[in-house]
Amino acid sequence: MSKGMLIVVSGPSGCGKGTILAEILKDDKFFYSISATTRAPRPGEVDGVNYFFLSKDKFEDLIKEDGMLEYASYCENYYGTPRKPVEDMREKGKHVILEIEVQGAMKIKEKCPDAVFLFILPPSLKELHRRLNKRGTEAEDVIEKRLNEAAGEIGQAYKYDYAVINGDLDAAVQDVRSIIRAEELKTENSKNNIDEVLENA
Ligand code: 5GP
Repeated sequence: MSKGMLIVVSGPSGCGKGTILAEILKDDKFFYSISATTRAPRPGEVDGVNYFFLSKDKFEDLIKEDGMLEYASYCENYYGTPRKPVEDMREKGKHVILEIEVQGAMKIKEKCPDAVFLFILPPSLKELHRRLNKRGTEAEDVIEKRLNEAAGEIGQAYKYDYAVINGDLDAAVQDVRSIIRAEELKTENSKNNIDEVLENA
């Protein structure tokens, strides 16, 4: 069995990456890495499902113990990827998906150069503003902060391997599936399959 891939997905808040990933994750060959954060839960968010909601002290303890594969500070809160589940699931052959912001993604690029980097974009900044307002989970000042952050983030899309524009949801999901399939079929990731062909003489 081959080791699972590490798939890093970024995109500004409101670009629809959560909705796209919910579709992708219906296939159980994927494992979604649940991040830790110090931000407060939004209505409906559940500890251990959406995030592990931690105090700042607890988060800093985990950093000290080298329990985080990466972490970053974003809009005045810590966000980080607990290391162990990622490593265990990849060993089990699952493709692990990290939904993280750009600073953290760049740390992963240094540590795991074989990861696949995918950036999700909204069709325009205007549409992003509209979606954030419609979602209604953030106050107007938080939306402003996130929009300011978004332009800078989108400018960094060039650091990723792939850019998917989420205008139409079905098309965006199909694009992500195609990218993952192409990555699976790379010769370096298909070594076991190639060997199997040779063994069955
Ligand atoms: P939100 O507060 O909207 O849930 O997340 C804010 C940003 O933090 C999003 O861009 C999200 O992808 C990112 N994020 C979530 N978890 C992590 C993580 O574990 N590490 C890093 N670096 N960013 C994360």
